[in-house]
Amino acid sequence: MSSPQLSWAQDAFCLEFAPMSDLVITNLTKKFGRLTVLDNVSVTASDGQILTLLGPSGCGKSTTLWSIAGLLRPDGGSIVVGDQTLFNHDSSAFLPPERRDCGVVFQSYAVWPHMKVRDNVGYPLRLRRYKPEALRRRVDEVLELVDLSDQADRFPHQLSGGQQQRVALARALAFPPRLLLLDEPFSNLDAKLRERTRDWLLQLQRKIGVTTVFVTHDQDEALAMSDRIAVMSTGTVRQIGTPEQIYNDPADLFVADFVGTSN
Ligand code: ADP
Ligand code: MG
Repeated sequence: MSSPQLSWAQDAFCLEFAPMSDLVITNLTKKFGRLTVLDNVSVTASDGQILTLLGPSGCGKSTTLWSIAGLLRPDGGSIVVGDQTLFNHDSSAFLPPERRDCGVVFQSYAVWPHMKVRDNVGYPLRLRRYKPEALRRRVDEVLELVDLSDQADRFPHQLSGGQQQRVALARALAFPPRLLLLDEPFSNLDAKLRERTRDWLLQLQRKIGVTTVFVTHDQDEALAMSDRIAVMSTGTVRQIGTPEQIYNDPADLFVADFVGTSN
């Protein structure tokens, strides 16, 4: 299967994206019953950066991402994007998910099987009452961006796993997001396709410059994809820094072990 390529000749079309946004998460806490799954998590990402949450299964990465998207309500702390407060426990502020303008790609990419590609991608725009002509234009534009223009009228089951993944990404980008949230987006792809898709996604993110939170348990992926990495274990952030800092100067044994720099 050929890898998707970003055509730089496409620069001519102007993608309208929301103003870039700093993300500031402070002392985020979440409990499920008596289990504390996030314990005062504080991380930041600057305009247009990729922040990666890296850690073993069960450490709270998805819970953090779902809290940013507004799909979970945390028990403490705050989440601010640019000048917009998404959540603040102390002031009881909780912006509903549909007003957060987060584009989310879930671990299992969850494209709707009964809808054609163009309807999957257009769905967030229909929710926002885009007029048919503007909706069609935007869907075409985003499908071109992810190299799926020729698949618009097919159904997901007619596409490869990698292509379905790009449909999910196109849907996340359809309404210009303030934040792109990616939860282990490559986990269903085989190793070779995973690497190619990673490079392609990085190019795409650099092109559109949307602030991105990327979740993975794969240290190589994190080192290759990130401006900053937050290494998590059991609901806490053990270290946050650039890939070089995390790799060359791990804060403790857990980080050294997990990133593979010990011994
Ligand atoms: P990760 O994405 O890093 O693998 P999660 O954020 O999914 O971790 O989960 C963190 C912890 O919270 C795990 O121990 C998980 O079992 C628990 N957890 C997640 N969702 C729920 C839930 N809805 N109810 C109870 N426990 C949950
Ligand atoms: Mg997870």
